[in-house]
Amino acid sequence: MTKLIAEIDTYLKRLFPICRSITGNGNRETLRILQEIVPLTIHEVPSGTQVYDWVVPDEWNIFDAWIATPDGHRIVDFRQCNLHVVSYSEPIRTMLNWDDLQPHLHIHPKLPDAIPYRTSYYKRDWGFCVTHSQYNELKQFKGPFDVVIDSTLAPGSLTYGELLLPGKSKQEILISTYICHPSMANDNLSGMVMTAFLARFIQRLKGRHWSYRIVFVPETIGAITYCAINETFMKEIDIGLVITTVGGPGKIGYKKSWNPKHPINRIIEEIFNEAGIDFVTYPFDIHGSDERQYSSQAFRINCATICKDRYYEYMEYHSSFDNLAFVTSKQIAQVYELYKRLIVKIEKRRIYRNRIFHCEVMLSRHGLYPANGGVQRPVMSGKSELDLILWLLFLCDGRKSLEDIIYEVDENMDVAELSSIASLLAEKNILEPV
Ligand code: ZN
Repeated sequence: MTKLIAEIDTYLKRLFPICRSITGNGNRETLRILQEIVPLTIHEVPSGTQVYDWVVPDEWNIFDAWIATPDGHRIVDFRQCNLHVVSYSEPIRTMLNWDDLQPHLHIHPKLPDAIPYRTSYYKRDWGFCVTHSQYNELKQFKGPFDVVIDSTLAPGSLTYGELLLPGKSKQEILISTYICHPSMANDNLSGMVMTAFLARFIQRLKGRHWSYRIVFVPETIGAITYCAINETFMKEIDIGLVITTVGGPGKIGYKKSWNPKHPINRIIEEIFNEAGIDFVTYPFDIHGSDERQYSSQAFRINCATICKDRYYEYMEYHSSFDNLAFVTSKQIAQVYELYKRLIVKIEKRRIYRNRIFHCEVMLSRHGLYPANGGVQRPVMSGKSELDLILWLLFLCDGRKSLEDIIYEVDENMDVAELSSIASLLAEKNILEPV
């Protein structure tokens, strides 16, 4: 654990200063660094590509920016903090007085000393984010100001990372995190670093049962692009984990998947309870991260998120105060441990599909129906073998695991007993393992 904490720490420090956005060289550099942890494949999708109702935008890159007095004193300096520039600001090089500059300035409504995080991806604009004291200094000086944003906004591509880890079963689990935020530590540097280490853990899992599709995309447009390119595969997925904000000092919590009854929610709560964690539950909501895309009507993936100081919930959110003083590698490692346990539990799930799902199976034809009726063999839970056969045939839909079926039918049922009956039905070619 100590070694892992040190490793996480190294990557947090290396990746924090990089200026990322929904496209650009900062994202490529970030993914190349994460390739040191896991062998991600880096994909490029050209600007202008239609992805459902959206279009991949022009690529944005930034080199420098400032607001300075005519003698060159920089009052606002991109080199000090990349949050000073509104993400996707178009290039500008001009002299302005206060009245013309002021509409392009943004301050944090609640934290006077923080630099807020602002973006303008789909409306061509430019702007600076400043502290209250910088704002007042500019106002007092009145101008003229030397205003420069040395950026490019031109056709290029959107970059994302992907790791496909095949298992014995072709059924995939989706793990997704986003890479589009500049220098902020909890949202979402913590998420992408932890996801890389979780991917390494899954990669090293011996005898991996499920297949894993692990993606590092810019939020929203990246997730939409990914769904459009991988539609067939994505439509087959049942479980997803959207990893974000895992490193704050506050409480651990989880956001439920769109179907609150889906087993993923129960499994997460089981893990919290086993670890003795007092957690916060966030119900599913249409706001949030990339579960908005993955759970949309066409895909309906049940995505859950375990977090520590979830987005929206902490004062430092989307500001320069969400930094490496707020987030620590130890806090991230704590959530990593929970995700790891979740993967281990998911790995243990065994899922079957009833091949004869139109109406009831004629059990006697398969030698499964007791000739004289009544109980064949009593089982621990007090249910007969016939009961268990019928429940399995009723519930094995290729999505529910045997543990989920137990949870639905009778919590006192023995999984080994149910498993032996599932094997019997699989031998008779009525159930097939997924
Ligand atoms: Zn965010």
